[in-house]
Amino acid sequence: MVKEALFGKTLDELQELVLNMGLPKFTAKQLADWLYKKEVSSIEEMTNLSKKARQLLTDNYSFGLTNATKIQESVDGTKKYLFPTNQGKFIETAMIPDRDRKTVCVSSQVGCKMGCLFCMTGKQGFQGQLSAGEIVNQIRNIPEWQEVTNIVYMGMGEPFDNLDEVLKSTQILTSEWGFAMSPRRITVSSIGIVPGLVRFLNESEAHLAISLHTPFHDERQKLMPVEIAYPLEEVLNEIREWDFGRQRRVSFEYIVFHGLNDTPAHVREMARILDGIKCRINLIRFHPIPNTPLKGTDEATLVEFKEGLEKKGITTTIRASRGQDIYAACGLLSTKALVK
Ligand code: SF4
Repeated sequence: MVKEALFGKTLDELQELVLNMGLPKFTAKQLADWLYKKEVSSIEEMTNLSKKARQLLTDNYSFGLTNATKIQESVDGTKKYLFPTNQGKFIETAMIPDRDRKTVCVSSQVGCKMGCLFCMTGKQGFQGQLSAGEIVNQIRNIPEWQEVTNIVYMGMGEPFDNLDEVLKSTQILTSEWGFAMSPRRITVSSIGIVPGLVRFLNESEAHLAISLHTPFHDERQKLMPVEIAYPLEEVLNEIREWDFGRQRRVSFEYIVFHGLNDTPAHVREMARILDGIKCRINLIRFHPIPNTPLKGTDEATLVEFKEGLEKKGITTTIRASRGQDIYAACGLLSTKALVK
């Protein structure tokens, strides 16, 4: 029988667990220290726990870290890790170094059910949810974990389709008893599932990124089926209710496709729909994937598009493409090629 993992449990869950085993309540805090603050990977190494406690824990639980089974490194230093999940599937994690930053891009699901036209993960289909432990393992169990400065939930999956576990993972990352990271170093990216968005904004202080990709309803429906159930207009109405002018930020991700969403009409409509929202737009180059008619825009149009948005007063950046040679760039994560 596979033992339940300790890694990925919140302090409250650890407290319940130790009390149920007849251990003192303070053991939970000691456990959290070993799990989230120290460089150990077995219950045996938790030396300030009594022998009895260690034995009881070992009999019933595993520490719960899972090692990557494959690591690839790009010419630009980006690394991609392949992690097995508890259900015998695989997920990918990217680590992107950039000057004094190390950003980890984590997956929140195995595959994805959202079916966005431009995304390799979407083509893979949905294969399962990740637990909070499996999400945090992608940060804690890479060699660079002590140097990680930023975390983005932009890997495989739609975070708001696995919100309980995603919120639990951000709690572990930001709590004093956990990794004690600032929530301002964490960005959760979603295509805009409105009920999930409302809950996320209420329960987390992390930054928000919304995959926008086109301001027009009809066009967005074709690119992203989520637009049918949760139109962008509803997403933006919800965002308007919140203050993004201070510590918490909202950004909009926009993959620029040739001849599809890169025209002056798109610039004008973007400015209209985002009026009154303090935000930034990240323009993303499209990396071709098999079986799609979509093409990336050319560099001159990309720059023109950026300048057009800036003239409308919207802070806009063009995201550098990283890790493309190892398929770690945006929209390219798919374990199919790796696990064959
Ligand atoms: Fe899923 Fe995100 Fe890919 Fe859409 S872009 S299919 S939500 S992983």
